[in-house]
Amino acid sequence: MKSLKSIFFVSLAFTLSLPVAAQKQNNNASVRTASMHRCGTEIVMEELFRKYPAFKKEMELSRAKKFQALQQQQFRIPFRTDAVYTIPVVVHIVLTSPSTVSDAQVQSQIDVLNEDYGGTNADSSRIPAAFKPVFGKSNIRFCLARRDPKGDATNGINRVSSTVISNPGLADPVKFTCSGGSDAWDPSKYLNIWVCQMPSGFLGYSFFASDPLSYIPLNERGFVNNYRSFGRTGTAQAPFNKGKTATHEIGHFFDLEHIWGPNNCDGTQVCTDDDGISDTPLQLSCSSGAPAADSIIKDACSPNAPGIMWMNYMDYVDDIAMVMFSKQQCTSMETSLLNTAWMQGLATSDACTPPSSLNRDVRFEKFVDQTITNCGTSNTTVYTCTNSYRPVITVKNVGTDNITSLSISAKFGTGTPVVTSWSGTITPQSTADITLNTMTLNSGSNNNLIIYTSNPNGNTDQKVANDTGKLGAVIYPYVTTPYTEGFESTTFPPAVWKRTNSDGDITWERTTTAAKTGVASMFIDNYNYSSNNETDEMTSPLFSVKGKDSVFLTFQVAAATYSAPDLAGNPTDTLEILITKDCGQTFTSVYKKWGLDLVTTGNIAVDTAYVPLASQWRRDTAFLGDYSLSTIDNIQAVIRNTTNYENNIYIDDINITYKDANANLKRNGVMVTPNPSRGLFILQYYEKPVNLDYINVYNYAGQLVWQKRISAGLSGNNLGPNYVEIDLKNVSTGLYTVQLVYRSKKAQTIKVLKVN
Ligand SMILES: [Zn+2]
Repeated sequence: MKSLKSIFFVSLAFTLSLPVAAQKQNNNASVRTASMHRCGTEIVMEELFRKYPAFKKEMELSRAKKFQALQQQQFRIPFRTDAVYTIPVVVHIVLTSPSTVSDAQVQSQIDVLNEDYGGTNADSSRIPAAFKPVFGKSNIRFCLARRDPKGDATNGINRVSSTVISNPGLADPVKFTCSGGSDAWDPSKYLNIWVCQMPSGFLGYSFFASDPLSYIPLNERGFVNNYRSFGRTGTAQAPFNKGKTATHEIGHFFDLEHIWGPNNCDGTQVCTDDDGISDTPLQLSCSSGAPAADSIIKDACSPNAPGIMWMNYMDYVDDIAMVMFSKQQCTSMETSLLNTAWMQGLATSDACTPPSSLNRDVRFEKFVDQTITNCGTSNTTVYTCTNSYRPVITVKNVGTDNITSLSISAKFGTGTPVVTSWSGTITPQSTADITLNTMTLNSGSNNNLIIYTSNPNGNTDQKVANDTGKLGAVIYPYVTTPYTEGFESTTFPPAVWKRTNSDGDITWERTTTAAKTGVASMFIDNYNYSSNNETDEMTSPLFSVKGKDSVFLTFQVAAATYSAPDLAGNPTDTLEILITKDCGQTFTSVYKKWGLDLVTTGNIAVDTAYVPLASQWRRDTAFLGDYSLSTIDNIQAVIRNTTNYENNIYIDDINITYKDANANLKRNGVMVTPNPSRGLFILQYYEKPVNLDYINVYNYAGQLVWQKRISAGLSGNNLGPNYVEIDLKNVSTGLYTVQLVYRSKKAQTIKVLKVN
């Protein structure tokens, strides 16, 4: 909404549109679609450079320094040794059916990498004679990891069943478990490869070794490889079915540029663009298709024989045609590996060496309830809506025997363990979800859950260090009514409340900056919350409504907007109260205010971070329903902020109360309370009036002083299903007549008295 506030807005998930490729064509170009990019790396980098101009400068500087040092052989390490550096690889296969990429397909890719990086690839016979003298054979090799980050045995293949599709760039969802992908294994010890679906036209993309960590976080390092261009069997599809996409992307991972230079292949390149490598000829643009092995291709930058090195892995030809790194490219990659601080550990990682194997080793992996389904929400606490809880845990067989039976103990804090005896079959390197026996919870208290596995196959577990799991708390958030919460305790959220912060950004917090009573309240810093339509929620404890006529949530609110509060039609920051009768499965809105209805500053915009004056609090009421004839036992209220980057909202003195219906209300079907009042009257219905058309208020002279048109179905702003606020604060004291006009033309009147 606001444009004056200076902000730095960072969108983590940008989308990329593929520019139409303007490729130099050769006779075989028809095998490639016009929009196919061999690699998305430059597209991703250009997007980042556009967003962060300083990043481009930093990267160009570090790159220039590196190439200069490379030319002058200035590195501190032995410039070229015969040591072989074997890089442990973990392959995350993130697909709806991840088993469609078989272990054999993964191994075929590792084989390709070792052939291509070692220069033992059979297709090196295609290298033209003129380039044979610069055919590079690096000392870099690859293994599938045999030891996982916890030190246990692994096959280096991590399958995740998910429909997520890579979104090339920063915060790619495929790289995060919380967004349906798979979290990186420590990228300073493992080369992470994410094999997945990619947007149309992408075969893969990587970040560069020299990209500063301040821009590209460590846990996003590694590369993404389309499952259609991975390995040389299985799901790999011609013409990208020889495993060369990974060979190429790892070139970028170790800082190699495309052979034509550090630009996208979009027709704007010039001959001064260079890849910084001395033994690759200058080249104007990307090559494509599959030129014959002995083709001499000249271009404006290399107009004489032997022309350009189109068969280089860092060009864009088909898999069958790319067959070599140059010697300098190999040296450059090794230099990056050994001189880039965050990746040096890859060369010394012990993850290619399996741990000493154990027959019986069952490892606790996670609590299934703890699975984070929304990035930013850290749920080490589980809320249950009954007083019983059945933990479900995932265990992994990291030993070599099949596991057919297991004992699992579970206890809350220092309580008595509940033991579950499980039987089934878990093969080595497989996981299983096990539902434990039911545990009983105390209401309203934190219950730290500790579990441990033991006795696999009726024998001792040979490694007990990985048997235990802990869950922060399991909470049965039940309270008795009337219930109050004034946020005076420094624990926030209050012990039995649940906070939901979907975007991981600004959310509800306790504050002592302002309070209606006591020293503290709850607030949300919408002034600094530079997003639109993000929701942040506080879910109340469960409370019993069984048989209650009328249940109310009252609270003190203070709020302001940055824009003019009366902006018609545009919801600004919105405060809403919802109820859920089914533990968060479904919600009903019972209160919703924004703009002029919500603010407590009058029709005055506030252009600084809002802190309410003592006089700027208002007591609001949300009617949570009539449960006199209902079978519902417990409900929860949800306080929701929807941001439009306006200004702060404060809440204090929450009260959940109930009233049995007044005898008058039951008899007359409608009543107004309080009566007399100082200006705010609540018109209540005993049953929902389906055909109410208008509420009119007349003074003693018969003049209309207040009116509300009721929309059909009684939905709308600040209108609960069974009550309406009548605001007579701005009229003089005296006797008034409230007239209810029904669509049937029937009318009903009630006298009310406004007093000082
Ligand atoms: Zn590339």
